[in-house]
Amino acid sequence: MLTCRELAHRHASDYLDGQLGWRGRVGVWFHLMRCDYCRRFIAQLRKVRVLLRNASQHPNPLQSNVGVDPATEELAYKLAEVYATQKKFSPPL
Ligand SMILES: [Zn+2]
Repeated sequence: MLTCRELAHRHASDYLDGQLGWRGRVGVWFHLMRCDYCRRFIAQLRKVRVLLRNASQHPNPLQSNVGVDPATEELAYKLAEVYATQKKFSPPL
């Protein structure tokens, strides 16, 4: 079974992008069935990605109201500001 570290560092983004092969997806599914922490991590990562995507389309990404906790929204907003001020806004999605 995948460890939490392996899931977070090596598989989470590919999983959300649909880039894992069937073995990778099954490994992630089995882990997520047993691990509440990683289920929450994947859910929050998915919401952050939506916020970052929205940040490139709306002046205030917090208005997108995708239901993330305030700390995650604040982090996403700060990331969006950093990208915008560097004038190379391209969400790492
Ligand atoms: Zn885990």
